[in-house]
This record gives sequence, C-alpha cells and structure tokens, in this order.
Amino acid sequence: SVTLMWFEQDLRLSDNPALSAALAQVNVLPIFILDEKNCDNLKLGGASRVWLYESLSQLNTQLNGALNLYLGDAETIIENISQRFNITNVFWNRRYEPWRISRDTKIKKKCSDLGIHAKSFNGTLLNEPWTILKADRTPYKVFSPYHRQCIKKGLKLNAVSAPKVPSSLVRDAQSTSLDCLPLQPSQPWGASLLSHWQPCEQGAHSILRSFLENGLEGYQENRDFPAVQSVSRLSPHLHFGEVSPRQICQELSAMPESQSKEGFMRELYWREFSYYLLFHWPSLPSQNFQPSFDHFPWLNKADQIGRWQKGLTGFPIIDAGMRELWQTGYMHNRVRMITASFLVKNLMVDWRIGAKWFWDCLVDADLANNSASWQWVAGCGTDAAPYFRIFNPVTQSEKFDPKGLYIKQYLPELKALPIKYLFRPWEAPEDVLAMAQVSLGDTYPKPMVDLKASRERALLAYKNIS
Ligand code: FAD
Repeated sequence: SVTLMWFEQDLRLSDNPALSAALAQVNVLPIFILDEKNCDNLKLGGASRVWLYESLSQLNTQLNGALNLYLGDAETIIENISQRFNITNVFWNRRYEPWRISRDTKIKKKCSDLGIHAKSFNGTLLNEPWTILKADRTPYKVFSPYHRQCIKKGLKLNAVSAPKVPSSLVRDAQSTSLDCLPLQPSQPWGASLLSHWQPCEQGAHSILRSFLENGLEGYQENRDFPAVQSVSRLSPHLHFGEVSPRQICQELSAMPESQSKEGFMRELYWREFSYYLLFHWPSLPSQNFQPSFDHFPWLNKADQIGRWQKGLTGFPIIDAGMRELWQTGYMHNRVRMITASFLVKNLMVDWRIGAKWFWDCLVDADLANNSASWQWVAGCGTDAAPYFRIFNPVTQSEKFDPKGLYIKQYLPELKALPIKYLFRPWEAPEDVLAMAQVSLGDTYPKPMVDLKASRERALLAYKNIS
C-alpha cells in the first residue's frame, strides 16, 4: 500500500503535520499539483510563478529528487494516481481559498467512495478559523477582540523538526518535469527578482534567524520606515509554507519580552485574521464587505492605472514603491498602504484592479492578506481604515522616509534633488531642478493629479454613498 503526500503551500519538511503523518507509513509518494483548472480567475501571478519554480526545485532536492509533479485538475490527477498505485491514504495540509475548500471537499468525498483514507491537517495557521468565535458563536469582524480571544486561547508551541527523508520514496514515471510546468517567465525577469531572495525552507530559516538577531529589537519603532531594514521579509516564505507560523512563534518565544516582540506577534495575528475573514466571508476577494461601496462611482481610467503600475505618477514615494514592487516582487507595508490609498482614493480606481496588479507582481501575493488589506485601505472592509482618512503621499514620505533614502534607492533620477524638494519636485525652482539634472515631464513626470482636488473629489463621492 502507498500513502500520497500532497504538497501545496507547505513546501517544507519541518513542522509539516501532513508529511509527518505520511512518513509514519511505509511507502510514501510525494506529489505537487499545479491546479489551474479549478481556480477560475485566480491563476498564479507572474512573480509567484518565479518563486514557486525555485521553491519546488529546492524541495525536490530535499526529497532526494522524488517529488512527483503534475499539471491539471487535482481531483482527476489524484484519482488517476490512485488507480495506478495501491493508494490507501492521502494526506495534505489544509488551505483556505474558497476554490480550494470546495475542490478539496470533493476530493475527500471521492477518496471515501474509493475506500481511501483522506486526511487534511493544519500546517498554515496558529488557530483554525472556526475555533475563534464570539460568545454568540458568530465570527468576529473586528481585529482587536479577535486578537484578544487568540491571546486568551494561548499557543501550543510544539513545532517538530525535519524528519529523516527515507530513500524509499515512491516515484511515478508519469510525473512531469519542473520545466514542463508553466512557471518560467516569458521575459528574463525572474533572475533579477530572485537576486533578492532565497526561496526554500533553508532560505526561510536564515531570514528568520537574521531578523531575530538584527531586526526584532527595533521592530516596533522602525517597522514603518521603508529605508530601515527592520521588517522580517518573511511574507513570501510564509505564503509558500517554507516556514510555519508556529515555527516562527517558537523561535520568537526564546527572545526576551519586549514591545517589539509583541508588535511582531500582532502582525502574525493580522495574517491569521485575514485568513479568518476569508474563511468566514469567502467573497472577500471579489465583493465589497460593505455593500454601500457597490455604488461607488469608480473612474478606472486606463491611462492613469498604467502610470500607477509603472511608477510614473510624479509622486516620488508612490513611484519608488511601485518600482520596488516591480524590481523585487516586494513592497514595504507602509508603502503598500500609501500606493493603494493613492490608487483608490486620489485616482478613484476600484480596489480590485489594484489587488490584481499586486497579485501579479508580489512574490508574497496571498489571497487572504491581499484581499483583506485592499478592502482595509479602500475603506470597504470589515474593520477598515475610514474612507475619509486619505494618505497624503508628501506628508507620508516626510514622516516615514525623512532622509529620502528609500525614494533615492528606487528613483535614481531624483538622487541629486535637495531633500527640501525630493518629496514634491514640482515645487522646486527651475535652477534647482537644472542643478539636479531633473527635467519635469522629461526625466521625471509632473504630478498626474492635484492632491487637494482629487482628495475632495473622493470625499464627495464617499459622502454620496454613505
Ligand atoms: P513583517 O512586518 O515582518 O510581518 C511579519 C508577517 O506578519 C508578515 O510576513 C505577514 O505574514 C504578517 N503581516 C504583516 N503585516 C500584515 C498585514 N498588514 N496584514 C496581514 N498580515 C501581515 N501581505 C501578504 O503576505 N501578501 C499580500 O498579498 C499582501 N498584500 C497587501 C496589500 C496591501 C494593499 C497592503 C496594505 C498590505 C498587504 N499585505 C500583504 C500585508 C503586508 O504588507 C505584508 O504582509 C508585509 O509587508 C510583509 O512584509 P514582512 O514579511 O517584512 O512583514
């Protein structure tokens, strides 16, 4: 008899409950399926593909080359493998995307019809979404009481270390090769993207160690400053399951108590909360949580969306953020909030258009976090930032990039501009611009909208729907 270990977004050996259960059996067939048949319009974005290729390659090495790969509908593929091998168990770690929940429910039923034991495990979250409920058994909509309830429940920190990989892992001759999966970008964009990252379990742990040693201490104080290396950059590793949140908490528990430690834990709980919302409100990626926003008069001007995407808005902090995203597949959280607010509020572009661009470009593109965060910024989410709070890109950059280091890193064309004008180049006198070799409208764009007028336009539109 053979046990199927189905990897999905748990690309690690350690603290992987499904893998541990599988390896307690005799013959294990490890598989990964790129299922783009069931996900409708939620196919992987470009940056995620680049990451996944690399991470699968590394996992395959960890499994001594025995990772079997497939492309297509997971249900059909699992049934096909079951017919060719004497499969008695199918194990996997649960996912929470609505399309996966409905697909996996069908797979469980199919397995049961075929007399196969199918079991899913929690390898992704600190708490299953159905275990944290209000006294009346309904789900929380607001983060703070949800968070308090999680803290009250406490954590079981029993992460397990990597098991020994047996040499007897089963190989399927019908498995496809990594290069046959549509994961390679059509342009040589992947190499530059990957120069910033090490997508694999070992990469996740080395980034975690380095964060605990160098970033954690000043995290609470510095986490809003994009030029300071204080955040962990663990998000893509967490998304692909190269490290589990439980492992992170376990490592964190060995650190001295501090506000930073608490603050970092709080962010991990924001991730949990996004998954929680997605589980309890599966329409989160596509529908406004607050229905009044269904009547919002989005403008969605294609040329303006294009300028935002390319980082050519004429507002340096926005352009730096959009270029960081394109070059590295990542954007600092503070800048994600500023760029998203600008798109939704100053340009009045539907948040789903912004979410789609992030989905394509982020290496940490995550349906739960991306959808919840965009709804939060747009003001239409559960526990959202109020719509009337509109980030001003100039004051935000003065506050959070006071020396302009982040802006200059991604906008070298503004490097010589004195700090006084770096956040608002359009106010610089001609001679200052000339000295800095900046020609507005030529080497760097003029601002694409008037901040004050666009702010007022958004507020009026909001007033009309509320
Ligand atoms: P750290 O500050 O080191 O935090 C540690 C971990 O906590 C992160 O890896 C992440 O898993 C979690 N976390 C931190 N901040 C948040 C948050 N605000 N919400 C939920 N979880 C959080 N995060 C994604 O993982 N994928 C996305 O697709 C995504 N899209 C976003 C879109 C917008 C418009 C905004 C405003 C935020 C988005 N975020 C997303 C949340 C956040 O920006 C990133 O998780 C964070 O910047 C990742 O960097 P880090 O790992 O260095 O974070």
